[in-house]
Amino acid sequence: MQALKRPIVIDSEEYFLPASIGVSLYPNDGPDAQTLIMNADIAMYAAKAKGKNQVAYCTEEMKAQTTKRLRLTNSLYRALDRNELFIEYQPQICTETRKVCGFEALLRWKNPDYGIVLPADFIPLAEQTGLIRPIGLFVLKEACKQLVFFNQTYQEALVMSINLSLVQLRDAHIVEKVRAILAETGVDSTYLQIEVTESSNFLGEPLLLQRLIELKQLGISLAIDDFGTGHSSFSRLRTYPIDQLKIDIEFVQGITTGSKKDMALIKSIIQTAKNLGIEVLAEGVETEEQVQYLQQNGCDKLQGYYFSKPLKVEDIAGSGLLTPWVNNQA
Ligand code: C2E
Ligand code: CA
Ligand code: CA
Repeated sequence: MQALKRPIVIDSEEYFLPASIGVSLYPNDGPDAQTLIMNADIAMYAAKAKGKNQVAYCTEEMKAQTTKRLRLTNSLYRALDRNELFIEYQPQICTETRKVCGFEALLRWKNPDYGIVLPADFIPLAEQTGLIRPIGLFVLKEACKQLVFFNQTYQEALVMSINLSLVQLRDAHIVEKVRAILAETGVDSTYLQIEVTESSNFLGEPLLLQRLIELKQLGISLAIDDFGTGHSSFSRLRTYPIDQLKIDIEFVQGITTGSKKDMALIKSIIQTAKNLGIEVLAEGVETEEQVQYLQQNGCDKLQGYYFSKPLKVEDIAGSGLLTPWVNNQA
């Protein structure tokens, strides 16, 4: 590391190379070279995660974590076939009428060994292993079927919003697969929305933009999730065919803590979106105070525990949130 501290000069430009080093020790971290190298590798990733230019020694905790991830990944491979995945639906509220105008589909995993596993714990694994592709199609199909059912059963015209991982978007056949699900379920795609999270991966990938445009050509609308937390750029608001911005929960919580900065940011996000003809939804709304502030500043839609937690499909009927058509047979 000391040696690498000195810049490397190429064409009279100076380059700095950071090094991350993982260390494993015999015999604690393994009886043979293969195991030692594997554990040194784990430690190296820990060093990188701490911010580059670090040395990390392998610890018992690191090894246990890795084993746990491995087990979880193995179970995840079987989760789809074993019907362990299901979806909860969180209502989205129209600010003006305070009525339900749609749902966001949120994935859940119920495993006999681990109980309910949260998306934050298994979506990253699913993305790393590519499992998110079949899993994501399962979510899309289920949510489409549910939307068809909702729109036959209830009077409200509901929009269904589905999270799409960037890994799915890189699938060369994603548009074909989505098209097939639309046809199979008979869903009206104008009531379908996909949510894509802001991320640095987005930048410099014209292919992803092209995919999003093709998905939009199927009639689906596009929301940018967690807006304001990632690599937001105003130029993206111009280049991407965005229908909705979802203001991240972090900003919304700033209303309650009295953060002037968060409140100012919310205000300008809403204003900017309005000027561009983009709809705005605030996430993670938990209090009436937040509702008031968002309403006063013209936020179109709201989503959060204040109105409802994500619901199991069988709990939606009894929730009184939606108005059924009058049933003639009743
Ligand atoms: P997200 O898309 O930002 O979803 C919103 C998260 O906030 C959900 O967490 C939701 O349950 C939670 N939430 C909603 N209202 C409130 C509130 O008032 N207060 C608080 N504190 N939280 C609230 P969840 O269900 O655990 O999902 C976490 C993340 O996992 C999602 O974040 C999304 O990025 C990802 N995810 C969920 N389902 C899918 C999926 O089907 N596909 C993909 N690719 N990602 C998914
Ligand atoms: Ca989302
Ligand atoms: Ca979000």
